[in-house]
Amino acid sequence: MEQRHERALLLDGTRIAEEIKREVSAEAARLKAEHGIEPCLAAVRVGDDPASAVYVRNKVNTSAALGLRSEHHALAASTSTAELLALVAQLNQREDVDGILVQLPLPSQIDAARVLEAIDPAKDVDGFHPLNVGRMMLGQPALVPCTPAGIIELLVRSGIEIGGAHACVVGRSNIVGRPLAQLLLQRDATVTVCHSRTRDLATVTRQADILIAATGRIALVRGEHIKPGATVIDVGINRLTDEALARELFGPHAEERIAAIRRRGYTLVGDVHPAEAELVAGRLTPVPGGVGPLTVAMLMRNTVTAARRRRLGVV
Ligand code: NDP
Repeated sequence: MEQRHERALLLDGTRIAEEIKREVSAEAARLKAEHGIEPCLAAVRVGDDPASAVYVRNKVNTSAALGLRSEHHALAASTSTAELLALVAQLNQREDVDGILVQLPLPSQIDAARVLEAIDPAKDVDGFHPLNVGRMMLGQPALVPCTPAGIIELLVRSGIEIGGAHACVVGRSNIVGRPLAQLLLQRDATVTVCHSRTRDLATVTRQADILIAATGRIALVRGEHIKPGATVIDVGINRLTDEALARELFGPHAEERIAAIRRRGYTLVGDVHPAEAELVAGRLTPVPGGVGPLTVAMLMRNTVTAARRRRLGVV
């Protein structure tokens, strides 16, 4: 008989992210003390998207808190592909810049694929350059995308066995679903990838010991999608403005969420129905406070890794 839990255990992404950040900070201090190297992240943002501004500010502030140098390049919404390529070329050439991050999404007039391919792969701390994607696929040393890498850390540091488990990833984007499926496969999971054309999603997802939702659809994964006792990782970060839906999703914890909607216009919710998942899953990541903090922690780790590899030639 499968063991049923009264309520899923919440996986504390914030605590694990803090642990990783402490390790990164210690490594940065060591690079400075022993080699005089100060890892530096250059973050580039184009236009005025408020969510992007928050993300970049968070990355810059976290760099400072960990003892990394950082630069914030904010360009006008009207910036052309050529202008952005010129900045990337400049950052590629600078010896003191270790990591280059171009915040997505970019305005529609910019050829995003060209920009990402122009970043020096050795400085590609988001891990989106085709060379890093290819190396990761081959299991070679690479800069790996931060959200999937963070999810692996979350599973490993929470003591969840990946090897031999059936992992189901819902979503196949280039930044989350696809690379995550690869990383799980490399750790010997049996991996299923679902997407909008998957037939009878619940029948497939209910097979999974580890179920990861990365769809950008509020509460797409419900109780019926989850195998009792499974580990459920909710990658979604969605703004919910509807008070009635907040009441349905959060049940007894709804008041706090409704207060947030009234105060600032929205509350953050994931791709998993929290009240239903809590009753079926064995372990569950909250939103916020689950996967989100790990993404930033892994970006910091990639920056220090890039500095060590570029400047010392050490893998
Ligand atoms: P995308 O929009 O790029 O991809 C969404 C994926 O979900 C697609 O593969 C799509 O399928 C699939 N999908 C959509 N609807 C369904 C459905 N009804 N059934 C099954 N699959 C479906 O999203 P991202 O991967 O960029 O982001 C996903 C979520 O994760 C978002 O909420 C985003 O905000 C969040 N996110 C969180 C991060 C963090 O740090 N925690 C970092 C990055 C993203 P198809 O390919 O067929 O269209």
